[in-house]
Amino acid sequence: MNPGAGRFAPSPSGELHVGNLRTALLAWLFARSSGRRFLLRVEDLDRARAGAEEVQLRDLAAVGLDWDGGVVRQTERGALYEAGIARLTGAGLTYECYCTRREIQEAPSAPHAPLGAYPGTCRDLTEAERARRRAERPAALRLRASVTEWGMTDALHGRYAGIVDDFVLRRNDGVVAYNLAVVLDDAAQGVDQVVRGDDLLPTTPRQAYLAGLLGVRVPEYAHVPLVLNPVGRRLAKRDGAVTLADLAAAGVPPRQVTGLLLASLGLPRTLPEALEAFRPEDLPRDPWVLDPEALATWREAPS
Ligand code: GLU
Repeated sequence: MNPGAGRFAPSPSGELHVGNLRTALLAWLFARSSGRRFLLRVEDLDRARAGAEEVQLRDLAAVGLDWDGGVVRQTERGALYEAGIARLTGAGLTYECYCTRREIQEAPSAPHAPLGAYPGTCRDLTEAERARRRAERPAALRLRASVTEWGMTDALHGRYAGIVDDFVLRRNDGVVAYNLAVVLDDAAQGVDQVVRGDDLLPTTPRQAYLAGLLGVRVPEYAHVPLVLNPVGRRLAKRDGAVTLADLAAAGVPPRQVTGLLLASLGLPRTLPEALEAFRPEDLPRDPWVLDPEALATWREAPS
């Protein structure tokens, strides 16, 4: 029987920082501790920086992670996404949208629509209106959703419901939207366990709903707490020496970073021991606040 798979899916926009590495360690622990394969997917549809993928893969290996099979890149999977779009379109579940961001912001919201939802401006245009608007600007493609909310279950957050609107499937510059790509990729790769930062939890109901429309299995989800800087914002590279390269330059080797990240999760400091001890239900539920100034003090004690 196919054992299922977990995955880590970084966007190659630059170097990973310790917050990204902590999420990667967690995704690996969730997958390996449940006998799943662990896959790596490079989400390079957007924000890809030359050379970033290579450095990210090197850093993931340096903290001790291994993965199964080759790395999958989203830019090589256009046919999969177009087939998914064709399926939805064939079922009458898409429509073209010509709105600018400004038009969306300024449109009165539809009655009963949740705050922040697309107001439905282009949903019911006539063919003649479409032809006229199409000549003005390239169209994005939206999902014709028949719900405004959807629920899913998360291993750490329990039952969670969130907004589903007529979200974008393909932007008007032709780039496939993350919410579509992620659902099609996870299904095509046999991913049945999605572990990622909890900043992505609010958009997950859209993905679970879309999976249902596409007739693919909804994976298990675990949205893990982020690493925050001392003022409570999501850790970022501008916060200081937070990448493996920065830390190595400050005298903190990758194995020490692994040990400290595992310790921050209440786990033993080596991966084999952490894997042995790993219990999802025992994970901290709160973000980990990290002072990058303090990172340099992680220097390995001389032995
Ligand atoms: N590529 C996304 C990111 O780096 C992660 C998406 C996912 O794990 O589903 O934020």
